[in-house]
Amino acid sequence: MSNFRFARRLAMDEESYDFPPFRPPSEANSLLLRVTRGCPWNRCAFCPMYKHIKFEKRPVQAVKQDIDTAKAFTGGNAETVFIADSDSLVIKTEETCEILGYLHGAFPSLTKVTSYARALTLRRKSIESLRKIRSAGLTRLHIGLETGSSQLLRRIKKGAGPNTMIRGCIKAGEAGFEVSLYVLLGIGGESGWQEHALETAKVLNKIDPDFIRVRTLTPQPGTPVFQWWNEGSFQMPGPETMLKEQKALIEGLTGTSRYLSDHVSNYAPINGDLPADKAKMLSVIDTTLEKLSKDEAFKADLEGMRYLRNL
Ligand code: SF4
Repeated sequence: MSNFRFARRLAMDEESYDFPPFRPPSEANSLLLRVTRGCPWNRCAFCPMYKHIKFEKRPVQAVKQDIDTAKAFTGGNAETVFIADSDSLVIKTEETCEILGYLHGAFPSLTKVTSYARALTLRRKSIESLRKIRSAGLTRLHIGLETGSSQLLRRIKKGAGPNTMIRGCIKAGEAGFEVSLYVLLGIGGESGWQEHALETAKVLNKIDPDFIRVRTLTPQPGTPVFQWWNEGSFQMPGPETMLKEQKALIEGLTGTSRYLSDHVSNYAPINGDLPADKAKMLSVIDTTLEKLSKDEAFKADLEGMRYLRNL
């Protein structure tokens, strides 16, 4: 059952189910399970996601009730579950394992259970704790790297520098998780795209995650980045810069990740397995850049489509 139909049935039956507001695009068909509410950090300068939600750890019993409700509606037939909100591994390891055990008991056919996680939280957890959570059935972690530049990470108040990103993500990989990292194209602005691309490639090469997923910065009202943009202290890169930045990033990558452009904010569909598809991916960027340099209408279309998709 799709999440939309599931939510509608819950609303129609007036059941109580805590439905999370965000999930990665790749979890569109996953059952959504809210273990915490909001973000315990909630300070990233580009992020509007949980600004109006006070961070809370949900009682384990309430999460189990949601699992029971979901089972009643789906008949226990789900293959993938996404655990929300932004950093649910901050709860006690024993509680995470208890929830995962209950979840797998209710849905025996589960093949994938994923969650957002902050690199700082992963760095702080012991490897034994992470292995316990992995053994209890959490399989993949979605982690926001955004950039590998220490200067930019500080400016956007990510709350973790490159070393924390590297240590947290490597530890997650050693514990057996699939590691999926998000990169925020454009966060260096017009002046900082080279540093952003090169430093991000360096950090990604040290981690060598299973997935690299890119999305393009869209300044959101109410965030510091939006304010910097309005004041003129941040210049939003245009499509040429975004593509040049992405080209430099891909050229700098030496690992074996799957690179995905699976977000509506992006200008071009650049996808592939590294290193095998690197030349093909770069050639898509070169072709798009060449067209942009010659065709004003194409440029306007590209910007217009991104704007519309974001609406
Ligand atoms: S980007 Fe992630 S860690 Fe940063 S405030 Fe948003 S939800 Fe929290």
